[in-house]
Amino acid sequence: MRVALYPGTFDPVTLGHLDIIGRAAQMVDRLVIGVAINRDKKPLFTLEERVAMVMAETAPLSAKTGCEILVHPFENLLIDCAHDVGATTIVRGLRAVADFEYEFQMVGMNRALDSSVETVFLMAEARYQPIASKLVKEICRLGGDVAKFVTPAVKVQLEARLRG
Ligand code: ADP
Repeated sequence: MRVALYPGTFDPVTLGHLDIIGRAAQMVDRLVIGVAINRDKKPLFTLEERVAMVMAETAPLSAKTGCEILVHPFENLLIDCAHDVGATTIVRGLRAVADFEYEFQMVGMNRALDSSVETVFLMAEARYQPIASKLVKEICRLGGDVAKFVTPAVKVQLEARLRG
């Protein structure tokens, strides 16, 4: 059974994340979405809210691909989280060159911690590649329409939180 872990903050989950999840789900039997607590980043949504949004949005992908998709909140080391969920592969999305430097270091250090866990990088469809949760929040806060970046349900939650 092939198990992969896709970690992130998902504050909130975007169409970019969902594209990566759909691609990863076609490659493994079980995909665990690791939702990082990430207190340092001061998330807009609570862990429970982020988990609920990821669960709701990934349910159709699970039905479509036949891959079991689980959501797992975590606060520990990524490599330990991979062990906890039985994953031998970590999935990351690559957007622009800007992501590369950080991801390059992460792979190197995670490999030093446990060389048996492999990291694979996937690229979203071109129109989803520029999407970043941080910018989606900023656009929404300033009154822009985020319909091209998130699902309708996530858009409703963003507007409720940011515009009151
Ligand atoms: P981070 O806070 O580290 O950026 P995120 O929670 O935003 O993490 O994203 C988790 C993972 O999803 C990361 O590997 C990130 O590169 C990837 N990702 C986010 N948005 C996109 C996108 N639009 N296209 C492809 N990958 C993405």
